[in-house]
Amino acid sequence: MHHFTYKDGVLHAEDVSLPRLAAEVGTPFYCYSTATLERHYTVLADAFSGQDAVICFAVKANSNQGVLATMARLGAGMDVVSEGELRRARAAGVAADKIIFAGVGKSRDEMAYALREGIFSFNVESEPELIALSDVAAGLGVTARVALRVNPDVDAKTHAKISTGKSENKFGVPYLDAPRLYTAARALPGLDVSGIHMHIGSQITDLAPFRDAFRLMRDLALDLRRDGHEIHHLDIGGGLGVPYHGDADLPPHPDAYARLVKDLLGDLEARIYLEPGRMIVGNAGILVTRVLYAKAGAGKRFTIVDAAMNDLLRPTLYEAYHEVWPVAAARASSPKSLQDIVGPVCETGDYLATDRELPAFEPDDLIAVMTAGAYGAVMSSTYNTRLLVPEILVCGAEYGVVRPRPSYDELIGLDRLPRWLSKA
Ligand SMILES: *Cc1c(COP(=O)(O)O)cnc(C)c1O
Repeated sequence: MHHFTYKDGVLHAEDVSLPRLAAEVGTPFYCYSTATLERHYTVLADAFSGQDAVICFAVKANSNQGVLATMARLGAGMDVVSEGELRRARAAGVAADKIIFAGVGKSRDEMAYALREGIFSFNVESEPELIALSDVAAGLGVTARVALRVNPDVDAKTHAKISTGKSENKFGVPYLDAPRLYTAARALPGLDVSGIHMHIGSQITDLAPFRDAFRLMRDLALDLRRDGHEIHHLDIGGGLGVPYHGDADLPPHPDAYARLVKDLLGDLEARIYLEPGRMIVGNAGILVTRVLYAKAGAGKRFTIVDAAMNDLLRPTLYEAYHEVWPVAAARASSPKSLQDIVGPVCETGDYLATDRELPAFEPDDLIAVMTAGAYGAVMSSTYNTRLLVPEILVCGAEYGVVRPRPSYDELIGLDRLPRWLSKA
């Protein structure tokens, strides 16, 4: 459920008309809805209200300060995967002790920075990382709280590029090796290894893989406690999917997910940490683009728009499907034809949608690429020396440009000429 709806014949973000935004900001742009962000957070928080649970928004899904500050105001913690994301979370007003630092390749500098900030916990993904963190923490005279990320070898039944819980993926330590590593970690200084972390993938639309993973987490927690380890927190990761095809692929409801967590982990008296990204921000954002040209190809139409793969990489990176809506409701009744929506970038992979039956868009039409709030703007680049796409946050009848479009001078000015090529 989201707050992008047609009013007076044009698509609105809450109470702001998209043609008005396009006129004032220019296209292309991302547009986020505060009411949608709040709704998704609240639905999840309500589902877990009877449990000792903390929601840490996965910053990598959307790290705009406007989005993070909205989450922070709702009381969310954050899950970060780099020093940069940690700095963004702190800048948005998130308390350090609500931040979890994840990722397979934290550098020692990043570890030291996070320890000085006083974050809640590190999710550690290998034995060498455990040793490095111990060394850094002991050197600073502090203790790092740790959850080992355990790879349960379950199939999340999602796209291969966003599956993380299979044994062939680079993530986590092997399930069967975990007891040995918890024992080894106990002997290391500067560590308090008192959590278990699992994150099996993203865009998961079925509860079964979660059930398998949570059962394994439960067994491991009980085994570790029998061996004398204190397990105080269970980080169950993110991964809940969002409906990219309208009502056709509804993911599990947060209530059902919360019930599963309660049934399998609820009696362990450990605090539950969640790391949702996509389900909070996915359909709280859209990409608005303008049609430049329409051309007839052999057997299909190409609608050429001013947004491209550098603005939204998901279609070509993940073969992702995004619904395409005309901003003017009347366009929906134009005759439909088979078409690709493509951008100006010089790559065959530059498309936003392929082989769709869509109305015959005309030059100057505005198009909304739906469900683009997660893994959209954060993956944008300046490939082809295109300006980074701006981001707009709507709240009711108000909007704020939460990342302006840079100028060409700013973009080109990031480069420097070496001494031998400078004229002066
Ligand atoms: C990417 C990621 C998440 C968020 O995943 P979503 O599918 O967006 O919910 C959570 N935890 C970890 C460790 C991640 O890498």
